[in-house]
Amino acid sequence: MVQIRSKRELAAMRKSGELTSRVLFELTKHVKPGVSLLELNNIAEELTLSFGAKPAFKGYLGFAHSLCTSVNEHVVHGIPSERKLAEGDVVGLDFGLVFNGFFGDSAVTVGVGKISDKARKLLQITKDSLYAAIDASREGNTLKDIAKAIEQTVKPHQYGIVREFVGHGIGTRLHEDPQVANYEAGASNLKLKAGMTIAIEPMVNEGTHRVRVLGDKWTVTTDDGGLSAHYEHTIAITDSEPEILTNWTMVLDEAKTTQDIEIIKKGAYGQRGSNPS
Ligand code: MG
Ligand code: MG
Repeated sequence: MVQIRSKRELAAMRKSGELTSRVLFELTKHVKPGVSLLELNNIAEELTLSFGAKPAFKGYLGFAHSLCTSVNEHVVHGIPSERKLAEGDVVGLDFGLVFNGFFGDSAVTVGVGKISDKARKLLQITKDSLYAAIDASREGNTLKDIAKAIEQTVKPHQYGIVREFVGHGIGTRLHEDPQVANYEAGASNLKLKAGMTIAIEPMVNEGTHRVRVLGDKWTVTTDDGGLSAHYEHTIAITDSEPEILTNWTMVLDEAKTTQDIEIIKKGAYGQRGSNPS
């Protein structure tokens, strides 16, 4: 059943969303050549606990970590390991937490050092498709309109949209109804109503849309070994503009250090707009 949140519940989700985006912003600052995926996981976990929140993924269906780290051809659900990031890699960071009983879930794909033009373009188009989907998330529209917005953004570039994994309702559980597909044929005609809270998360491959799961039973990889990108926001449908609950605005407003400002100047991955060059 699709839940409609009260004002009080939406306020709680706004807080969970804010904490989620704070963790992702902090992680983004640590992405550089030589950092290991496990180090990023530990930063996410420690920061989450310091907020009095709990990581949402740890223990979920047996997942042992707090963060999903998916490098290059890995699409989603990559397990943090001792692997060190290298110049030119792209890493998907997917993170969720629960605070006061409500969940936040968000993902960004971040370039490590200088990345290729084709990688930068894939990241940009994937992020653009997320924001197009958010713009389409209006009362009276349907889940098909969300999927259509993603497809229309991605299609002209001949990229593949992953079908097996989709967005979802979110609230007092990490994954709730409805499923939010990223391609029109997979999406339902369910009408969006004010008070619905959903996580939209396009996964886009530079080549085939086909994916498979590695022997670790978690890591999803592109079938052709091509690059993949993933962006996600938790949003609320309202009676006017959609509200991004995991937006970075508050984090960015408070940025004071040179390093913070540097990231903002580079284009702030979680925000609408261009990616770092
Ligand atoms: Mg996520
Ligand atoms: Mg999600």
